[in-house]
Amino acid sequence: MWVDSGDYEQALERAWEHTREWLRALPRRPVRPSITADDVAAVFGGPLPASGLDAASVIDFLAEHAEPGLMAMQSGRFFGWVIGGTVPAGMAADWMVSAWDQNSGLRFATPATAGIEEAAGQWLLELLGLPVGSDVGFATGASMANFTALAAARWRQLAAVGWDVNAGGLQGAPKLRVLVGAERHESLDMALRFLGFGAPEVVAADHQGRIDPAALRTALESGSGPAIVCLQAGNLHSGAFDPFREAISAAKDHGAWVHVDGAFGLWAAAVPGLRHLVEGVGLADSWGTDAHKTLNVPYDAGIVVVRDVAAVRSAIGMHAEYLMQDDHGPGDPMEKVPELSRRARGVPVWAALRSLGGDGVRELVAGRAECAAELARRLAEVPGVEVLNDVVFTQLSLAFGSDERTRAVTDFIMADGRVWMSGSRWQGRDILRVSVTNWSTDSADLDIAVQAIKDALAATA
Ligand SMILES: *Cc1c(COP(=O)(O)O)cnc(C)c1O
Repeated sequence: MWVDSGDYEQALERAWEHTREWLRALPRRPVRPSITADDVAAVFGGPLPASGLDAASVIDFLAEHAEPGLMAMQSGRFFGWVIGGTVPAGMAADWMVSAWDQNSGLRFATPATAGIEEAAGQWLLELLGLPVGSDVGFATGASMANFTALAAARWRQLAAVGWDVNAGGLQGAPKLRVLVGAERHESLDMALRFLGFGAPEVVAADHQGRIDPAALRTALESGSGPAIVCLQAGNLHSGAFDPFREAISAAKDHGAWVHVDGAFGLWAAAVPGLRHLVEGVGLADSWGTDAHKTLNVPYDAGIVVVRDVAAVRSAIGMHAEYLMQDDHGPGDPMEKVPELSRRARGVPVWAALRSLGGDGVRELVAGRAECAAELARRLAEVPGVEVLNDVVFTQLSLAFGSDERTRAVTDFIMADGRVWMSGSRWQGRDILRVSVTNWSTDSADLDIAVQAIKDALAATA
């Protein structure tokens, strides 16, 4: 037999040792990887050996050869995209989920993980100020959370005009309009493509990327028929929030379904001092967010919340006699996300929330926004640095004079390794994007970030 049950202990002990080394090295390690994906593929690839290798040796090989190709996204000096690290309880719970190996689609079959996810779902509704009684599903990420919510929206808005999309599909269906802000996240367009919609109607946004509610009203008035409006809590360049109350009121006057992409920004709702940013967001119909961003849970932690339970279960659920489903009450987990088989993604979310408590979540989110504001204040004093956005949450967009100079500074920062920040283009300019999302980022990390940017400016003068 190739597999020996005694291998679990040795392999897991090796994994624990390597993990400990990885975590201990994080404060000192360069953030960037030192080898390329091609290098790694060469070491790990070649023909599959005919003979096996014991589990502990496999883990040793992984740890040794993957290490130089790892990006320290878990480091407090990582400021790229909108990533977040992992709080200890979330990481350890994620290991438990693997060991338990529960296929978490059905309440009666996996009551522990289904019940834990329901508890996490209730906490999330409370923290994010969303309607009690909504369905909460644990998807892979915000992209699939958005997809799931938009599938529910498609089902409901077509049902409202007498079309059953489950039976008739989209061919021959009444025209369903989808309106988005000019600065929505591209994953919304992807989700719309998956759902058989073409390109959405684009509504103007202001200089911070917020949808213009008057333009939204005009756009809605210029057409007719069922509609879906997508709003955003947290623009990935500026961190800005759409004006929910006005935009939702315009959408509701036209009977539209409102979906909010709040991948990282929806968490502002958990903090009294930031809650004004999402004022009115609870009036929407569905929301997508991530726990792997602002909450600092390991990946595979998207969250979809839908007020209209019948719509999401009709659009996304599956019914088969052999599954012995729970058709009433809380509903089976598999009715709330696209997957049938899946790991118990909500368990690390529960663990992170329980370890932080309500106060800890507030401190985590408020602390990231405070660090971003402090970084903006300090960088504004550095000659040659322009902070282009109003820093209202966790995001900064920086420029350094010409596009050419900005690109040179970005290249320097990415090669340097003390910190990691990524480039982008926003409002017609090349920029260096900074996101303060890791739980561990502190003033010492900000000192290093400011110094790295000063050095980059000196090196590119
Ligand atoms: C990250 C992000 C997404 C996509 O989320 P994934 O978890 O990567 O699928 C969507 N919208 C916004 C605003 C984001 O920041």
